[in-house]
Amino acid sequence: MKIDILTIFPDFFRGPLDYGIIRRAREAGLAAIEVHDLRGFAHDRHRTVDDRPFGGGEGMVLKPEPIFECIEALKMMSRKERFAGNAKESVVLLSAQGKRFDQSEAEKLVALERMVVVCGRYEGVDERVSEHMADRELSIGDYVLSGGELGAAVIVDAVTRLLPGALGNEASTQQESFTAQTELRSGNGPSSTCGSGGLLDYPHYTRPADFRGLPVPEILVSGNHEEIRRWRRRMALEKTMRNRPDLLDRATLSTEDKEFLAQTTGRTIRTRGQDHD
Ligand code: SAM
Repeated sequence: MKIDILTIFPDFFRGPLDYGIIRRAREAGLAAIEVHDLRGFAHDRHRTVDDRPFGGGEGMVLKPEPIFECIEALKMMSRKERFAGNAKESVVLLSAQGKRFDQSEAEKLVALERMVVVCGRYEGVDERVSEHMADRELSIGDYVLSGGELGAAVIVDAVTRLLPGALGNEASTQQESFTAQTELRSGNGPSSTCGSGGLLDYPHYTRPADFRGLPVPEILVSGNHEEIRRWRRRMALEKTMRNRPDLLDRATLSTEDKEFLAQTTGRTIRTRGQDHD
């Protein structure tokens, strides 16, 4: 996958793109990530990328010309062509006013061949970029950041780790929090059976088995795979109920899951997600 990041602070990305899974994915040629300095596409002596807002008001706004020219230089299809269907590329504008980025959006983005990510600054980006260049406007949460760079790093990380081959163990992306559709079946050992299905992840423990008098749950050292699977699933259900009850509405739940939730909450659980027995 090719990823281009447009920013006025290219050095910001020294670090986020240079460690762990992203670094390995780049080195393995799974992700080619390039950071472009928008000032390189400004034509005046001062390499101006921002200007005052029409109509008055606070702050400065990122000008459209450097962003349009940078994307045109990347030889992207026009926005119209991208919208025409089976486009394998997308221009993503980071914006607090965008659609909320989540795991299902990451799963859509990883199917692209190319993603161009535009980072705003100051009061934001000239609206013509959103209207005529970007085909996605994404927010990473309901708060205002100083710039789109942190959001871009978040999106690039979430997408890159989904690239086939980016993680040592492919099964782990299937098991993680928020992952929508996981096959729920038993019998293949604990790791293949307690997966997310839209829930939060179950708790993880590692050595030492007793840390300062805090033992790991006994079930995890029992060697009983089926019991471990059931325990993990219950822990995931409990944690989701406690921290993100909204996810339960869309989760894929088995009859056993629903019985457990009903016992725990004392009410019948109905879900919009597909049910599994
Ligand atoms: N005036 C804007 C508003 O009230 O929505 C905020 C602009 S913000 C200070 C500057 C830039 O940071 C935005 O153009 C955007 O690129 C980025 N940004 C801020 N909050 C963000 C968020 N929650 N998600 C993604 N990008 C964000």
